[in-house]
Amino acid sequence: MHELSIATSILKTAEAEVAKIKGNNVEEIFLEIGKISGVEITSLEFVWDSCMKNTVLEKAKIHITEPEGFARCAECNHEFKISKIYDSCPKCNSPFKEIITGQEMKIKKLIIES
Ligand SMILES: [Zn+2]
Repeated sequence: MHELSIATSILKTAEAEVAKIKGNNVEEIFLEIGKISGVEITSLEFVWDSCMKNTVLEKAKIHITEPEGFARCAECNHEFKISKIYDSCPKCNSPFKEIITGQEMKIKKLIIES
């Protein structure tokens, strides 16, 4: 049910943005969902239609970009690509790292019909 709450929060943000400029509907929505954000895009798409029915997002065209996961090792500063949140540094094998990208879950842009 994680994806449902994400869809709901996207909707709330979109509604607020539409209200702000007194627009009508969202024509296009650009989402950024990182590869290691834990969000299942297929699950999100699955709940999307029923969630967005009769809302400003009902007819919106969805664009999703999925930034790759990158981390910086806390031990040796090596930057590396990660496909899972618990991947270790390939250089020194340390599990301690700072995630640089890949965890985003945000609306990048909305195109609102006025
Ligand atoms: Zn390292």
